[in-house]
This record gives sequence, structure tokens and C-alpha cells, in this order.
Amino acid sequence: MKYLDEFRDSKIAKKISMAIFEKAKGLDPINLMEVCGTHTMSICKFGIRQMLPEHINLISGPGCPVCVSPKSYIDKAIAFSRLPDVILTTFGDMLKVPGSNSSLAEERAKGANVKVVYSCLDAVDIAEENPDKKIIFLGIGFETTSPTVAASIAYANKKKLKNFFVYSGHKIIPPAMKILIADDDINIDGFLCPAHVSTIIGTLPYKTINIPCVIAGFEPLDILQGILMLVEQIASGAIKVENQYKRIVKEQGNKKALHLLEDVFTIEDSEWRGMGVLPKSGMKISKKYSMFDAEKSFKLPEIKTASDKGCMCGNILKGIKTPFDCRLFAKKCTPEKPQGACMVSSEGTCAAYYRYQVRT
Ligand code: SF4
Ligand code: SF4
Repeated sequence: MKYLDEFRDSKIAKKISMAIFEKAKGLDPINLMEVCGTHTMSICKFGIRQMLPEHINLISGPGCPVCVSPKSYIDKAIAFSRLPDVILTTFGDMLKVPGSNSSLAEERAKGANVKVVYSCLDAVDIAEENPDKKIIFLGIGFETTSPTVAASIAYANKKKLKNFFVYSGHKIIPPAMKILIADDDINIDGFLCPAHVSTIIGTLPYKTINIPCVIAGFEPLDILQGILMLVEQIASGAIKVENQYKRIVKEQGNKKALHLLEDVFTIEDSEWRGMGVLPKSGMKISKKYSMFDAEKSFKLPEIKTASDKGCMCGNILKGIKTPFDCRLFAKKCTPEKPQGACMVSSEGTCAAYYRYQVRT
């Protein structure tokens, strides 16, 4: 298949759906988790749940970088934005995420210098243009985004910039997947592994996750085929890593990006929203580049992070609850007035359900 339409061909989709029904016949209920926010969006948008037997349950996981950034990260970002002579730069999605007492959008309305950028390199440009200011970039995201942030730090180093800093909240996906399958409250039979992340890390890191894994693309036929491959593994009792997205994802991943990550970051324990601190699941700036590390370069006042009131993002990110289980969903909590991170980002599970599922 070469063109987008072909990946959305309804006749082929029906055929794959029938093959899934056939393979899943007689099997116990199957819980499959999609780890990627874009998969969640596509599943909702193209009505993929409705094309599956009732005993195949698709669970949304911690696949949105904005959603998994904990409230403590937002609180600290807000504290950075309040420092004198600082320009805080961030992706737009982060503005509306509620912290304990405020959000970056509210801080901006009150006068904080918060600028939305489309890439970390834009933040480097702002630093070059404003030598009398300190530019802090909020570095969030998975292995998809972190190489570009690493490249920006290496570039700022080459340019000998002294006023560019990154507050790194980057996350690594496979450790979170391992924690999820070890959790007795969640019953996962297979993972639909993220596509973009896998273009960087390749297929190998999933080998240590001891349940069926299939890396799948984002188009409806990709996802359906990925689900069929998972059901086939489960039906035959196999446990392996398969790659449905071979047209983009290679076994070894992107070696150049991986080297860059290794040079600029070190792997550390990291806090995930609703999941606590997960061992070796985050990337902090390495010693070599510590002059660009916002956490090491600025002193912040003590910050007390409040617990969530009513919002169940934590359990939604773990796949224990769905947005329909939240009493605030589509009432007090909407994309216009989000009460939690999962409703803010376009890749968030609550936002995806609000946009597509709530009306079907
Ligand atoms: S960054 Fe890419 S792979 Fe990761 S959640 Fe977003 S869309 Fe999915
Ligand atoms: S609907 Fe809103 S309040 Fe409820 S879990 Fe989702 S983001 Fe949180």
C-alpha cells in the first residue's frame, strides 16, 4: 500500500475484522493496551472498538507525554516562570494543564513571560535573540521528542550559549510497560506498542517485556492488523515482539538519535502522573551538559504539590478506569475547561473520548 486511502480501505478493514472474530472465537476475554496517545485517537476516531468482538477490550495506557508529566512538574514549571528575567518556553499543550494552584496560562495572564514554541530549536533562537534573558524550555515527551531536545542542547553548547536551559521531564516508555504488567490491578494480555517511539528505539527494548507485543502504525488498517497479530499470538500461546510497522520501524531503531540521547542525557528514576516514581524511566541532562540543566542552574522556593481532587487521570493512565468512570467527564471537565491533564492534550485519553466516543 502506498497511499493514505489504501490504509483506510473499508473492505480490507472488514476482512481483517472478520479474521479477528474468527481467531478470537472461544478465547477468554482479552485485554490489549495501546501505549500511544495517537493510537487512542485513531481507535476512537475510526470506530475500531466497534469492529472487534465484545471480549476484546482495548485499554488506553500512558501514551501522552503531557498527561504523564506529574503535577509536581507543572508546579515547578510555574515556579520557573515566576523567576525574574526568565522567558519560559513550552509546547502549547502544557499551558492549560492544571498545577496545584495555577496553570501556565494563568501565570501568563498575570504577566509571566511564557512563550509557546513548536520546537526546542525555537527556544534556542529566542535565547540567541535575548542575551539579557534566561530562556528555560520545558522538555517533556518520550523517545520521540527527546532526540530533538538533545540536538538543541548540543547545538546550544556548540554556540556557547550561557542563557539557555532545559527542565527535563523526558520519559522512557518500556520501563513503564514493565511496571504496568506487574500491577495486579491491571490485567494486560498484550501491548500495541507505540509507533513513533519505536522508530527511535527499534524493536529490541520490547524483548524484555514478557507478554505479546506488536508495534503498529496509526492508520485504521495498521491498528486492526496489529490487533489481529496480537490475537494470533495469544491464541497460539506465543510471546514475541512483532513489527507490523516495518515500513518505518527498524529492528535497531535510529542509531544516530540513540547516540545523541546517550551523550546528552542520563537515565534516572522519574515520577509519572498517577504511577509514582518508576525506576530508570526518565532522562535527565548528563554531567557533560549540566550548565544547560534548569534544575541545577536556578534556586526555586519550596513547592508543595496538592493531591488531585476528583480527577482520576492516574487510574486512566494505568488503564484501570475509563473516562466514563470519572464523574467530572464531559460535565465539569471539558477540553475548554480541563480539570486534569488527560483532557488537555489532543492525545489524552479523556480528550479522545470526549471528541469521538461520547457522541457515538
Ligand atoms: S509521541 Fe508519538 S508514539 Fe509517543 S504517544 Fe505521541 S504519537 Fe504516540
Ligand atoms: S475527565 Fe477530566 S477530571 Fe476526569 S479523569 Fe479525565 S481529565 Fe481528569
